Amino acid sequence: MEKVTILGSTGSIGRNTLEVVDLLSQRFKVVGLAAGRNLALLYKQAEKFKPEIIALEREEDAAKFKQNCKKPYPQIIFGTKGVEEAARYFKNDIVVSAITGIKGLRPTMAAVEAGKRVALANKESMVTAGFLLRQAADKNGAEIIPVDSEHSAIFQCLAKERSQDVKKVILTASGGPFFQLSRQEMKLKSLDDALKHPRWNMGKKVTIDSATMMNKGLELLEAQSLFCLEPQQLDVVVHPQSIVHSLVEMKDGSVLAQLSITDMKIPIQYALTYPERCESPLPALDLKAVKLLEFMEADQEKFPLLRLAFLALQKDRCFSVALNAANEIAVEAFLNKEIKLIDIFEIVDETINSSVRTNIETLEDIFLIDRETRKRARNLIRQRI
Ligand code: MG
Repeated sequence: MEKVTILGSTGSIGRNTLEVVDLLSQRFKVVGLAAGRNLALLYKQAEKFKPEIIALEREEDAAKFKQNCKKPYPQIIFGTKGVEEAARYFKNDIVVSAITGIKGLRPTMAAVEAGKRVALANKESMVTAGFLLRQAADKNGAEIIPVDSEHSAIFQCLAKERSQDVKKVILTASGGPFFQLSRQEMKLKSLDDALKHPRWNMGKKVTIDSATMMNKGLELLEAQSLFCLEPQQLDVVVHPQSIVHSLVEMKDGSVLAQLSITDMKIPIQYALTYPERCESPLPALDLKAVKLLEFMEADQEKFPLLRLAFLALQKDRCFSVALNAANEIAVEAFLNKEIKLIDIFEIVDETINSSVRTNIETLEDIFLIDRETRKRARNLIRQRI
């Protein structure tokens, strides 16, 4: 049995992972769960999967959880340290890193340093600390297998290719709910509008990032780090059907792509079973029903965060850390209805123009830039409301 711990078990990726593990219960066993505040769901998950270790974000939730726990009693821990402990739990073979935001970085690093296979859904850790994670993975014999559908597609396309033969990696983007709108029309869009994604069912942060196309921006930076690519080797194309999950252009002119129905259980399962593939009960891709696959240019003027991400590919690492931090704060303010959707663009742009520059050598350097940038972004937001 391969033992799995899921960080972020009550989120969208976490729930999908548990469905996959449940289907492949002959092969995988859940030993650890880490979650934020959705205790009701965590109880159900714990009851069904009987993990040995459970990490909660807050101490008071851990105490509450403990009181209502049923046999066999799991070990219950809390806080960042608790989540890190769950990540490096000695029984883990695979750690699914699915906590959203930079919060996911420390536990991801803990799993990498413990030499685990990390099924990585937390893109912010790769965006901010990709090179440190890769270094630590090499040193400790850890594997980082992407879960994000685009990166899973690229990973699959590259499986048998030599890196010197790769010309370009092209990430596909659904375009989100506002792709067809003008900037003027986007101004009128509310939080509820932004939370309606046309193709994927995801957590709130990722859904808003999709509406601003920052999600694709983060994915560009994630791809650069994961696959060691030069800035000019990366591109984005809008593909509203979300069937082609990304493409790789080789130097001989061949273009490889991975296609599937739009369901995260496919890349999750692949990250767990790689290099093998297992049967999936999901419906097959029916190309005759899909009929049409469209591809179009992503408008970087209309979606300035995507432009900033392309810029970040060329800039130093501090820029990516600041871009991520400013975006996290702006999205949080939008979710709290403190600012409008298009204010996110301005806040992020203004914040990173004056962000801290330092040499990044450790995670602490990253958290320093992150904290300073957040402060600056919060000040800008405060000035507006
Ligand atoms: Mg994605």
